[in-house]
Amino acid sequence: MSVIPHLINGELVTENGRAVDVFNPSTGQAIHKLPLASRETIQSAIDAAKAAFPAWRNTPPAKRAQVMFRFKQLLEQNESRIAQLISEEHGKTLEDAAGELKRGIENVEFACAAPEILKGEYSRNVGPNIDAWSDFQPLGVVAGITPFNFPAMVPLWMYPLAIVCGNCFILKPSERDPSSTLLIAQLLLEAGLPKGVLSVVHGDKAAVDALIEAPEVKALSFVGSTPIAEYIYAEGTKRGKRVQALGGAKNHAVLMPDADLDNAVSALMGAAYGSCGERCMAISVAVCVGDQVADALVAKLVPQIQALKIGAGTSCGLDMGPLVTGQARDKVSGYVEDGVKAGAKLVVDGRGLSVPGHEEGFFLGGCLFDNVTPEMRIYKEEIFGPVLCVVRVNSLEEAMQLINDHEYGNGTCIFTRDGEAARLFCDEIEVGMVGVNVPLPVPVAYHSFGGWKRSLFGDLHAYGPDGVRFYTRRKAITQRWPQRASHEASQFAFPSL
Ligand code: NAD
Repeated sequence: MSVIPHLINGELVTENGRAVDVFNPSTGQAIHKLPLASRETIQSAIDAAKAAFPAWRNTPPAKRAQVMFRFKQLLEQNESRIAQLISEEHGKTLEDAAGELKRGIENVEFACAAPEILKGEYSRNVGPNIDAWSDFQPLGVVAGITPFNFPAMVPLWMYPLAIVCGNCFILKPSERDPSSTLLIAQLLLEAGLPKGVLSVVHGDKAAVDALIEAPEVKALSFVGSTPIAEYIYAEGTKRGKRVQALGGAKNHAVLMPDADLDNAVSALMGAAYGSCGERCMAISVAVCVGDQVADALVAKLVPQIQALKIGAGTSCGLDMGPLVTGQARDKVSGYVEDGVKAGAKLVVDGRGLSVPGHEEGFFLGGCLFDNVTPEMRIYKEEIFGPVLCVVRVNSLEEAMQLINDHEYGNGTCIFTRDGEAARLFCDEIEVGMVGVNVPLPVPVAYHSFGGWKRSLFGDLHAYGPDGVRFYTRRKAITQRWPQRASHEASQFAFPSL
């Protein structure tokens, strides 16, 4: 079994100490050992970042952007290698893995616009011989902590922008599938990033706590589950850091009686079962307005769920791979059991699925529940697996109330042909990202990403314009150059025009 190293100050380093196994979820076998960083290891990454910062912050933005241009090219050239690594450790299909990389590359493209996005604001002649401007300056050393479900895309939401803004970045990826994340970081160094500007340290809570507690770390970006997001937000802000912490989700799709049902079913299949439901934007609840819509939806979904092509993620032409770990598979199966006990109607049961040749893999087939009600655990909690719950309501207002009452508010969508209903939905729904006939409304890189309610702790969303604001601080400068030979008397009243 090979050991996956840290990447610190441009060097691959390992350490003896605590370590965990990284699995191939399709085979159920441990394939790598991953060292868990000690405090000293974290400190060495911080020291390297601190040392690299003065030169990097003074590197012209256009030069920083040039590194990102080369990085984009390297990512594209290595697409299949990266997708293979993602699929081997996460389990998602190769096509899905390539898709997440492409969405990650969008963020690199956005970062290529550094000279434009860092231009600042200027006002000439705000007073006699006085000009004023606002500058957006980097914070220094910043860190990111990322989840397992997008090992390429979510880190790319963070560090290209942070770095192009002039910061040095320490990334603590998920311990479940770190190989693609590490390779991508190496490609950025190959693209010409000075060593120390980006380090990758593997680890668990101890590593994260060391980053939270380090006074040199000025900001934390987190993406993961809500309890950890809340913890990192509380602990980070308590220490005066900037924190954006994106958490879990329960995303509802509303089906109106006038929806194009065939298209909605196709969209729901991908959004609920793609990546085995392990997406923070996955649709996990279909809210049907009227029994007629619900009956028709369930009738159309059942054969498609039963026909899902499930196998090792690295095989071609599949719809779904395994869940990430045996523990994740058992947890999702537990929710299915719980739903049955609570009285929901299990229309398709994916438990007990065995994939020939991969009997030890962490597989679970697609599951569908009908007649789910709001007090059930399968409705209230994030399942993060291939389970879709159908809830029946009588009106759009009732559907919206249901969504607005839910503790999460990451993504949602409505399927309808009625512009008035869609507009009302967009206006009144308390969710951060909304789709109209779009099941996974993940914003493009130049619109920021973030949920509402307990799906995000912090003020600024991830990437895009909010990302620039998060990774920079504003400095307002007021400058006067008196005209020669003029003398201005002291002014004791508060300066005004
Ligand atoms: P997780 O919260 O278990 O782990 C996320 C990161 O936090 C990992 O790097 C992990 O090592 C670290 N971590 C875990 N326990 C910790 C602790 N006690 N203290 C400090 N750090 C800790 O999440 P996950 O299982 O990797 O990812 C799935 C979750 O992420 C889901 O809830 C999903 O909805 C969420 N997610 C949210 C978004 C979003 O944009 N809102 C995007 C992707 C995933």
